[in-house]
Amino acid sequence: MRLEWIGVLVLLLVAPVAAFQAGASKRDVTPPLDRPVFIAGFGNNRTATGVHDPIWVRCLVVSDGKTNVAFVGVDLIGLFYEPDVVAIRQQVQKLAKKPITVLIASTHNHEGPDTLGLWGPTPFQTGRDEKYMAWLREQIAQCVVEALERLEPATLVLAKDNRKELADLQLDSRLPHVKDHTLCVLQAVSKRTGRTIGTLVNWANHPEVLGSKNRLLSSDFCWALYERLEDLLGGVAVFWNGAIGGLISPLGEELKVHDPVTGQPAPEASFRKAEIIGQFVAEVAAEAVKSKQALRLDKGSLRVLLKPLFVPLQNPRFRVVAAAKVINRPVYTKGKLDTRVGETKLTLDGTTISAKIVLGEDIRSEVGVVAIYSAESKQPVALFLLIPGEIYPELVYGGITRYPGADFPDAPFEPVLMDYAKKTGAKFVFVVGLANDEIGYIIPQCEWDEQPPWLNNAPERPYGEVNSVGWKAARVINEGIVALLKALTR
Ligand SMILES: [Zn+2]
Repeated sequence: MRLEWIGVLVLLLVAPVAAFQAGASKRDVTPPLDRPVFIAGFGNNRTATGVHDPIWVRCLVVSDGKTNVAFVGVDLIGLFYEPDVVAIRQQVQKLAKKPITVLIASTHNHEGPDTLGLWGPTPFQTGRDEKYMAWLREQIAQCVVEALERLEPATLVLAKDNRKELADLQLDSRLPHVKDHTLCVLQAVSKRTGRTIGTLVNWANHPEVLGSKNRLLSSDFCWALYERLEDLLGGVAVFWNGAIGGLISPLGEELKVHDPVTGQPAPEASFRKAEIIGQFVAEVAAEAVKSKQALRLDKGSLRVLLKPLFVPLQNPRFRVVAAAKVINRPVYTKGKLDTRVGETKLTLDGTTISAKIVLGEDIRSEVGVVAIYSAESKQPVALFLLIPGEIYPELVYGGITRYPGADFPDAPFEPVLMDYAKKTGAKFVFVVGLANDEIGYIIPQCEWDEQPPWLNNAPERPYGEVNSVGWKAARVINEGIVALLKALTR
């Protein structure tokens, strides 16, 4: 090969700049109510009595002509990496005419069907309907393929907003009080028609305004977000949640939203409260993409780095429900599938019981990073950090704190994700929770607290640990993402 050609090749590998394309699609995936539908997120046995608004899969596909990426949002409590996300990706590759990377994030909706299994008739009976799950996976795969087939030349618009009113909608129920209220937006606009193809909104909050008493299926505040955003911009609206651990939520009397129609605060846990929040977030997103600070890209490139990893399954409750097939997720030991079940003595809430547990040590999950580059710069302009669960915001933004009463008061801090994301020079950082998995809360080791005395001398145990795989997860996840961010800048 002649020397000048080698130079050209190297340039192509580094920056394959091309015109962006985009396509979008959405499908109604509301489960039929001809059999019991268990609503996920609060207590057991909350069956649906009707439908307020649809459960959706919503997909925006973005392409640089070579790398095709599907940004998929689903109005679900979560989807496990295994079996569901892996199976959906396989189905897409079978149906699609070209390769595509499928990224699926659940909104963490607390008013939709139980897709994990934990909210069935009793704690020992699954709430997951496998017949619905098979249909759902098929619908998600077809939605992605449809969006891919609709690719057309597009301008990508990147924008963000961090007005104080967004923070007013996020309660933070656990120390330290760290949260980020920044809303990030990726909009794709058709070059041909000037119309919006799709808009992805990323913001952190639990979709649980409606609370634990509601029996109507809904996507919670996302329903109003989708409707208002599509009214304002057109195209398909997609929502990706952020760092919502620790616990970022709009649920509670202390969070009041003003209803301009009545002049009063909207009633707690009402559809009206959800509607006002969703509409407001949509209006902020629509303003952001129209603002002067928004960045418009016709050309550039995309890069996706995904890293499968094993996360230790320490939580004994999860081991028990896995053995009872309440949750349907494979476990591994030293990288090999491990189907063994054994009897063991367990102490839960002070009571020692004999229980069947899965003996495998780890679950398989995935972390990822997506980078969007402009035609001009070697540094990414936008990053998506794909985090497979509900991460405590201090693990993303900094502020991990040592408290008296913690179980591991001297544990080293995990690497803070934003410290590394900033080094890439990216102006827009989308922090994505429940990306391609839902492993539960991701908690700093030095804040972990299962044994009394309780954190910061509180009278009661903190909430979070019971819905976490364990204290080892945070280090595995954060080190995994940091390794990808370093690979990006090498
Ligand atoms: Zn949650």
